[in-house]
Amino acid sequence: MTGREICRRFKSAGIENYRFEAEILAEELSGRSYSDETDYAGIEPAVKKREEGYPLQYIIGKWWFWDCEFIVNENCLIPRADTEILVDTTIKLLPKGAYFADLCTGSGCIAISVLRTRKDTKADAYELYKDTLKIASENAELNNVSDRISFFCGNVLDRCVPNRKVYDAIVSNPPYIRSDVLPTLDKTVGFEPKAALDGGADGLMFYRAILDNFTGNLKEDGFFAFEIGYDQAEQLKYLSEHRNMRCEIKKDLCGNDRVAVVRFEQKFV
Ligand code: GLN
Repeated sequence: MTGREICRRFKSAGIENYRFEAEILAEELSGRSYSDETDYAGIEPAVKKREEGYPLQYIIGKWWFWDCEFIVNENCLIPRADTEILVDTTIKLLPKGAYFADLCTGSGCIAISVLRTRKDTKADAYELYKDTLKIASENAELNNVSDRISFFCGNVLDRCVPNRKVYDAIVSNPPYIRSDVLPTLDKTVGFEPKAALDGGADGLMFYRAILDNFTGNLKEDGFFAFEIGYDQAEQLKYLSEHRNMRCEIKKDLCGNDRVAVVRFEQKFV
């Protein structure tokens, strides 16, 4: 199948960035550069999978985020460009030599990207699923940060971090989509783990649990940094204020609310 044919197939399947996806698929699966005329023998099954909505990232088994490459498969959420706002915010706010936690680490993309840029820091990453933790730890190796990160299996909805651990920051991109919204999402998202997306009836289940369970693991002048949905800023402010904490919101490149930074109130008075 030629490059041009892959593009045509993707276009008629309604894939928005059909040329970009065709180029990546052809190049990654063949190891050759893309051209309209090149014949990519044997690519048909992958093209068909993508036409059926299966994510390109899972087909090629990797994706790019921040300045890193990450292994991805069906056991983890695909890293999104929006999440780079959380990474950027964390990198700017962490004090020198910081020790931070990443809850619901998934592919590990947040903690690993922060560690890559901030070579003075170290991290603990928590994740409920063993198969997912395996990907995160492979990603730490791939990006040469294994010596500064430890991985733990635990449920964020319980108190999975021991009392003695105290961090400069606790960051997370937890599942935050309302359960009733999940079935309305794009077909491709349906191939990603539901557990990584489903934030419960009001989408706030994980923020509530993290703010309730982990404040004792945060230094007094430390901060929580969360990725949030574009319509969750007011709710995050409400949750924070009810716990005597203060919440600041940062926007993404499209101007949507995307990150909440939550700190203890006394820092500001
Ligand atoms: N922290 C991971 C990411 O940002 C996974 C998030 C999740 O599973 N909700 O990709």
